[in-house]
Amino acid sequence: SSFEEAKLPDEVLQCCKSFSKPSPIQSHAWPYLLDGRDFIGIAATGSGKTLAFGIPALMHIRHSVNQKTTRRVNPLCLVLSPTRELAQQFGIPPLSSCFDAAEKMIADVLCEAGKSCGARSVCLYGGTSKGPQISALKAGVDIVIGTPGRLKDLMEMGFCRLQEVSYVVLDEADRMLDMGFEPEVRSILSQTCSVRQMVMFSATWPSSVHQLAQEFMDPNPVKV
Ligand code: AMP
Repeated sequence: SSFEEAKLPDEVLQCCKSFSKPSPIQSHAWPYLLDGRDFIGIAATGSGKTLAFGIPALMHIRHSVNQKTTRRVNPLCLVLSPTRELAQQFGIPPLSSCFDAAEKMIADVLCEAGKSCGARSVCLYGGTSKGPQISALKAGVDIVIGTPGRLKDLMEMGFCRLQEVSYVVLDEADRMLDMGFEPEVRSILSQTCSVRQMVMFSATWPSSVHQLAQEFMDPNPVKV
């Protein structure tokens, strides 16, 4: 129930320094996610879920970066998100110019925290030109935040390779399936690393989401 208890490096906790304590979903999720467990969170937007999965994502990258001396090009973490607005919460400047204040703050702090662990991110979403997104992918990224349609496009074009992705977040899983993205989600997940940690957030728990969890997650994920 305190940030000290989470035993996270200062540079990773930088982005929480304006908060007095972890939100309930954060204090529930962090110990399990930092321990490598698959995790299902039934939580709504506004609960602090972005940092609930975002901080462990940074730790995942930090750990991998420490173990490797060569510079990686392909991403290690993937956040699949149904809408452009949500995907942008995790983005980096110059995309942040179109954020509202709260979203910009998240992007800035995560970018800040990301820098100290050498984490680079890109936000892939439709309705905008592919050029800058392709350039970022070519330069190399650690975290891809994307909506299923644009991500699948860029994968098919050969610009986004997910075989090294070992930390996957499905945000708003119920909404993503409601919007008809199930085929894309399945196809994207099947191209990530077979040894992976998976996090799923959903506001509701319909059978379609349950089925997806059974297929792609550990048999015994933590459910909060
Ligand atoms: P989210 O549920 O991720 O959309 O987060 C909603 C809002 O909660 C964001 O504006 C965050 O900046 C804020 N937030 C995240 N973690 C905390 C925390 N531990 N204490 C207070 N506010 C937080």
